[in-house]
Amino acid sequence: MNEIMKIRLGVASSFLIKSDKGYILVDAGLKKKEKKLIRFLKNKKINPKDIKLIVITHVHGDHVGSLKAIKEITKAKVLVHQEEKEFLMKGKSHPVKPTSKFYEKISSFMPEKSHQFDGVEADIIVEDNYSLYDFGLKAKIIHTPGHTKGSISLIDEQGNAFIGDIAMGFPMNFSAGLPIIADSLDEVKKSWERILKEGAKILHLSHGGIISSNALKKLLEKK
Ligand SMILES: [Zn+2]
Repeated sequence: MNEIMKIRLGVASSFLIKSDKGYILVDAGLKKKEKKLIRFLKNKKINPKDIKLIVITHVHGDHVGSLKAIKEITKAKVLVHQEEKEFLMKGKSHPVKPTSKFYEKISSFMPEKSHQFDGVEADIIVEDNYSLYDFGLKAKIIHTPGHTKGSISLIDEQGNAFIGDIAMGFPMNFSAGLPIIADSLDEVKKSWERILKEGAKILHLSHGGIISSNALKKLLEKK
């Protein structure tokens, strides 16, 4: 069983996965959260330099805000999808598309600043089916678009899936469902099917807790 640690870095959670060669971090939280991560690592007696890779599920400010600082501290490589690399480099969120009028209202309260962050040049640009074997983890990255065009998910051999915002527990943290922001809801559903096909059993959400593959199947049947 891979050791998985969840760390809340602002409104979104990051995940730290132990590998045979160190650690892999999934996402990098809101701006100015690097100190919180360092404190967490210290508590767990983990050397920041043992983080060898940072996987960015997608380029939204609440997932990449502290990336530059964390990259500088850890010297880890940064992995992102081809469709998102420009946004990451420019330090601007992938455009946000609310899925309803109600969510449009909510996101209009989000200050423009929350979509900006210090740009980072990625080291590894992926498209689909990228193995993490070289980083000591029996896992792969797959392209799961819908929330944004270049959203990706990490699925390990045991069926743990880190899916970013392709499903969201927000605003009700306990009931997962379709994301409130989506480039295309049709693509989201296709990505859910793909995640299930790839053998995901437990889905770890960035906003919210975890859901089982069976719960996701039920959601798919409903929608
Ligand atoms: Zn997002």
